[in-house]
Amino acid sequence: MLRIETILCRAGIMDNYAYLLIDEKSGIAAVLDPSEVAPIVKRCQELEVKPEYILNTHHHYDHTDGNQALKQMFGAKIVAHARDAHRIEGIDIAVNDGDVFMLGESAAKIMAVDGHTLGHILWYFTEDKALFTGDMLFNLCVGGLFEGTPAQMWESILKIKALPDDVMFYPGHEYTLHGAREALYFSKDKSAAEAYLRRAQDRLQKGMPVAPVSLAEEKKCNPYLSAENEAEFERRLGY
Ligand code: FE
Ligand code: ZN
Repeated sequence: MLRIETILCRAGIMDNYAYLLIDEKSGIAAVLDPSEVAPIVKRCQELEVKPEYILNTHHHYDHTDGNQALKQMFGAKIVAHARDAHRIEGIDIAVNDGDVFMLGESAAKIMAVDGHTLGHILWYFTEDKALFTGDMLFNLCVGGLFEGTPAQMWESILKIKALPDDVMFYPGHEYTLHGAREALYFSKDKSAAEAYLRRAQDRLQKGMPVAPVSLAEEKKCNPYLSAENEAEFERRLGY
């Protein structure tokens, strides 16, 4: 079993989410996408956890800025996509599409998803049905196309659409309200989208992250996941 602690970083600026992942059986822990050092160290101290790994979804600084400090502080090993080896400093373990990374006894499948960047990966903890999507998939929206093409992004969307409905996903930013207008506009099921947004607003008001949301709900309400084909997806992206 994986314990997942959500840590808000760059609050009010970029609203990144870093995640502290603890394999409960072994006690082995990792930090995923350490955006900012202070809030992560604080939570580690509160929980008396010493992360052994730093897991990255992609090279952008708002996901990797804490890498070096945490590596020094905890002696943690940086795990990232082999394709980002030239631009993420100090990678200790390079992973590739389809690899399985063991965090103690919790297995994570590496899924390559080009689009936001070339070399972006998802961390899919299969047994726990927890999917860490970085800047590929947010609540009700997707990440911008910084490096890939719309066609590559659609391939990545199809990989997510193929995952089981009961998988819960954990995005790299709190961007739910950014996607609200499009979600309502494109939704074939307005009441589902409205219910999604009501729940999101309620959680945000309480200072809680909207995540995690099930892929079932996301496939219904996220206009990029609910697109039926590549042409429709690209129209929704504005291409
Ligand atoms: Fe990014
Ligand atoms: Zn980001």
